[in-house]
Amino acid sequence: MKKWNMVIDIARCQDCNNCFLADKDEFVGNDWPPYSAAQPHQGHRWLNIERKERGQYPLIDVAYLPLLCQHCGNAPCIKNSPAGTIYRRDDGLVIIHPEKAKGHKEIVSTCPYGAIYWNEEANLPQKCTGCAHLMDEGWTQTRCSQVCPTEAITLVLAEDGEMARMVQSEELQEYRSSLATKPRVLFRNIHRWNKVFLAGNVVYKDTDEVAEGVRVTLASDGRAVGEAETNNYGDFKVDGLDPGEYVVTFKAKGYEDLCMPVEVGEKSTSLESVFLERD
Ligand code: SF4
Ligand code: SF4
Repeated sequence: MKKWNMVIDIARCQDCNNCFLADKDEFVGNDWPPYSAAQPHQGHRWLNIERKERGQYPLIDVAYLPLLCQHCGNAPCIKNSPAGTIYRRDDGLVIIHPEKAKGHKEIVSTCPYGAIYWNEEANLPQKCTGCAHLMDEGWTQTRCSQVCPTEAITLVLAEDGEMARMVQSEELQEYRSSLATKPRVLFRNIHRWNKVFLAGNVVYKDTDEVAEGVRVTLASDGRAVGEAETNNYGDFKVDGLDPGEYVVTFKAKGYEDLCMPVEVGEKSTSLESVFLERD
């Protein structure tokens, strides 16, 4: 049977919050039995957009991470909640039963992603249902994927084997893979969220002009780990790194090679201008 999977491209999300609003439009004030009771007007973010800034001014970037229930194949919420309160459908969607889960506030803390919210008025834990009520009607999109203007969120209905091949060929990754929850939500460009970069600006010292086309290589323990070329503003960025100590080398025709140690921090590192000397 085809199952529900979601692919989210971090590099495409612009934080427009259309997906957040579509979720509100679908669930606030609306009961969708047997899958969900109405979401309250305030306090719940079944689809939440997290934000992270990396680097130092002016060489910074900002990433947006849409987070929702990961519809885990190995779900801690199912394992650690009273039997029958949470279950998985044949299409992979994980559902909190809106009747059987009543009064079980402890369910909120069973999700390591913080995807479950407590509805005080309804006395109920709640979360994203993957628009199960719409899937039952033959929809092939969730409300959030349908409204995303940049196609940052896409829904993939596929057999498990087909999905595994897609994960491999498109290098899709899990968010917080160390949790080993087998999430059905997978990400592209997650390095924008969980890795760091080294950036900088290169200048020719003799002319005081920005240096375009300079080859920048980064090594760790003598092993090349990344490379880049300066653009027409003299800027470069080597991304997808772990925080730590590296050696960076700059090479430009007619100029002396420059080699220096750098420490790339937890929030990424943007170097101040680097000056190259004539041969
Ligand atoms: S609708 Fe798409 S681009 Fe807008 S915040 Fe949601 S995921 Fe990001
Ligand atoms: S993300 Fe949390 S609520 Fe969703 S299935 Fe996984 S453990 Fe359960």
